Order: sequence, then structure tokens, then C-alpha cells
Amino acid sequence: RLEIERDVVVIGAGPAGLMAARTLKKAGRSVAVLEARPRVGGRTWNGKVADAQGREHFIEIGGQWISPDQTRLIELVDELGLETFPRYREGTSIYVSPDGTRHEYEGTTFPASEKTQAEMDQLIATLDQLAAEIGAEEPWAHPKAAELDAISFREWLKQQSDDQEAIDNVSIYVASGMLTKPSHTFSTLQAVLMAASAGSFSNLVDEDFILDRRVEGGMQSVSLKLAEELGEDVILDSPVRTLEWATPDESTADPLNHVPADVRNGVDNDGGPGSVTACSDRAVVRARYAVLAVPPNLYERISYVPPLPREQQIVHQHLSMGLVIKVHAVYETPFWREEGLSGTGFGGGRLVQEVYDNTNYGANFAGGQAGQEDPFGTLVGFVSDVYAEQMWKLSPQERQHAILSAMADYLGPKTMEPIAFYLSDMAAEEWTRGAYATSYDLGGLSRWGHLQNQPTGPIHYACSDIAAEGYQHVDGAIRQGEIAAQRIIERG
Ligand code: FAD
Repeated sequence: RLEIERDVVVIGAGPAGLMAARTLKKAGRSVAVLEARPRVGGRTWNGKVADAQGREHFIEIGGQWISPDQTRLIELVDELGLETFPRYREGTSIYVSPDGTRHEYEGTTFPASEKTQAEMDQLIATLDQLAAEIGAEEPWAHPKAAELDAISFREWLKQQSDDQEAIDNVSIYVASGMLTKPSHTFSTLQAVLMAASAGSFSNLVDEDFILDRRVEGGMQSVSLKLAEELGEDVILDSPVRTLEWATPDESTADPLNHVPADVRNGVDNDGGPGSVTACSDRAVVRARYAVLAVPPNLYERISYVPPLPREQQIVHQHLSMGLVIKVHAVYETPFWREEGLSGTGFGGGRLVQEVYDNTNYGANFAGGQAGQEDPFGTLVGFVSDVYAEQMWKLSPQERQHAILSAMADYLGPKTMEPIAFYLSDMAAEEWTRGAYATSYDLGGLSRWGHLQNQPTGPIHYACSDIAAEGYQHVDGAIRQGEIAAQRIIERG
């Protein structure tokens, strides 16, 4: 194994870890980034799928869209010399109502009955108000935090409205659409955080806003470019198994926690950073600080010596991954466009609750040319939470048939005949274990949220899942990486 000494060891080469390393290096600190996988990018991943003729089509297995509020990511994309392109959205969209009826509509408002629409508007307005009042920075500190964290989003919606369709539609935006958990499993405070982090609940509802642009060459290109800058400081195939850490003044250690009280509370102690030793499969890195840039559900995959303080050990157990399968279906042409359809489809409570045109732009794989749209058409669909679980029980053929049939409810029978089909299920990935991100169980955010960003002695945490702005998104990961690096730089 390599033996390395650096100022800071970063664990995880997703967008958060790479951004932390870049910021530290620019400030003159030496870094090493240890990454478990044989690639960088974490939950962003450029892939390809071959058709029967052996032509390879570009797909984005993980995160891909950027919304206009994600300003830090937009700046970074520009700084790295990457281009973006807008999601195709011309033409009519499809809404499938609970009774299975298919409706065509324009704009971003579902064609529900007038009463349902009025109920939805009312719910959205109330959630907008809560998001503005509570904000994304410290939702746990708001006077209404405990009350809103004690009630599931589903129960809260039921208290506000007796219109089932309105409840189902509004819940999609956060439940299957974002946290990828059923709406009875997370709190209203958690839903408000999701909305506040994107600017408002109305922004979550507006797919033209939330799914605005993509990076030419794929979102993983952001991480690939950052890693290129870092060069040999990024070490792949190196899962960190053990993290030894010490604070400078062991004599003040609390016998219950082995950690001085001021460090436990996230306050720097006078003696400076202490030290860390990260032991991975390929390298042992000794440093003054560590940035733990992995999703919170994986924190406990690492053995800490000594153990982390009790507060952190408890917090980590209340954060769990959502579950969603992302589906790509590739066609010879974007046939739906010829029929005047945008490719967008929604249906609350259906196997595939969202479908979009995901046709590529630029020279990636088969047919694509720089500055031009790919001639092949691609659709992307999402199978969320309990529906994803149902899919596990099927054979690959049955699964493909069930998902394509559900997509055909929106875009017609031609949807059943893709030339290539790919399912990405990060629940099967050892170094992610779900998608899109982690969130708290009922009551967890108000109780434990204030601790999630507190450093433990020399260990700082950075991940999209503990972000305020850009929460659960690449933008939040980038911001978190920068914040962790900045805090370390300030500590000296
Ligand atoms: P990650 O990307 O998870 O990176 C963490 C890294 O740590 C990984 O590379 C992992 O391998 C590594 N690691 C874990 N444990 C260890 C260990 N012990 N030792 C060393 N390394 C370790 N976001 C958007 O902005 N827009 C979208 O459209 C979008 N869609 C998504 C679709 C899917 C299917 C998924 C899965 C995510 C999506 N996201 C989207 C979310 C986005 O991808 C994440 O928010 C972002 O990647 C988080 O970055 P991160 O660096 O915090 O964590």
C-alpha cells in the first residue's frame, strides 16, 4: 500500500469531495482523495448502452439536470469550460389521471378538474409560504420545526385537503419526485426543506424550472474535469476502511466519548486540528484533517478509531437513502415529437410516474456531433419507492415489459419498441445503496439536523445530502465541498 502524507485527506471522489480537494489545493493545502470505486463522480455517471447493431448510445446513469437556482454549479460548469443544453419541451404533455384516462395538456399545470386544481393551488401556496418562512439553512431551528417534523407529509396534506387527486399530485413533487420515499415515511418539515432548498415549492412543481438544462457530455464531466485538475492526488479503487483520528489534547477527553466537549459541540479547541490516518485498500494517508465526502448512509461503513462521539453515531442512523430506478429507452428517432408531443408525461400513483425527452446533444456516442442534437431519440422514466421494489421481484424481461407498458400509457405503442433499454438502480451499488439521496426519518430533521454539519475534531462532513441550497443535488454537493474546505482553511 502507498504511504502518503498530506494536509487533508478527502474520502470520496463525488462532486463534493472533488470540489473540497480543488478548493483546498487552490489555497495551498496538499490533498489526497481516496475513492472506493474505479471511477470518479459518485452518483453522477456517464454510461452507454448498445443496440442490436452494436451502436453505442450515451446515457446518464445518475444525476443530470441543472435548475436556474443552482448558481454555484452553473458557475463551475462554465469555469470548467463545459457547455449546457436545454431539455426538449416543445409540444403537448400527457397527464394520466388516477382512473387511467390520458389527457393532453400545455404548460406545467396538470389538466385536473377545476376543484382539484384549486385545491392543488391552495396546497402549493401554503407550502410556498412555509418554505419562505423556514428556509433551507436551519429548518430545525424554526419555532414550527418540531410540530412539522412530527407529522408525515401525507397526513399533513390530508389535514389540508379532502381532494385525493390533489393530495396525490402534490405529494409526487417531493415523495416519488425528489426524496423517492412514500409520503407517509418523511415529515412535512423534510418536504419544506426540499422546497426551500430549490427556492420554493412552486419551483419543484415547474418541471421547466427544475429539469431545465443538462451538461453536454454528461454531468459526470464536472467530476472528471475536477479529477483531471487534481491528477495523481485522486486514488481510485481505494475504499477507506478505517479512519483513525485524534484531537490534540487527549487529557480533556470525556471518558464516555473519548472526545473533548468543545470538539463534540463542533467548536475548535485551542490545540489545533489534531491528526487523522485514513487506511484504504490501496493507500494509507496521514493528514491533519479529513473531509468525509460520502453519503451519510455510508458513514458507518468506516471503522473510526476512536469511535465517533455518540451524537454523530445517532444522527447517522436516522438518515436513509430513497429508492428509484432510472430508465433509459432509446429509439431510432424521437417519434413523439412527430406527433406534437414534448415527451413529458405525469401520473400520480402509476408505475412510471414521470417520463421526459432525454435526447442527447453533442458528440458522445453513435450519431452525435458536437453542437448538434443526437438523431436518436431517448426517453427517461422514473420508477420510484414502492414501485421500484415491485420491479425487483420480476425477471429482467418482465421488468422491461412492465416499465415500457407504463411509459406507453403516456406516449403510445411505439414506446414499446426501443432499440436499446437500460435500467439504473443505484440500490444495487455498494458505494451508494439507493437513490437519489438520503433524508431523515420522521422527526429526525428537527432532532438531529443541527449536528449533521458539525465537524468531529479533525473530521469535516461534506455531501449533497446535508446541504441547504441544492440539497440532494450536485449543486448542493459542490457547495458543501467548498464550505468544508473553507472551514479547514480557516482553522489553519
Ligand atoms: P456522491 O456522488 O455519492 O459521491 C460520494 C463518493 O464517495 C462516491 O464516489 C463513492 O464511491 C465514494 N465512497 C463511498 N464510501 C467510500 C469509502 N468508504 N471510501 C472511499 N470512497 C467512498 N442531482 C442533480 O443535481 N440533478 C439530477 O438530475 C439528479 N438526478 C439523479 C439521478 C440519480 C439516479 C441519482 C442516483 C442521483 C441524482 N442526483 C441528481 C443527485 C446527485 O447525483 C447527488 O446529489 C450528487 O452526486 C452527490 O454528490 P456527493 O459528492 O455528495 O456524493
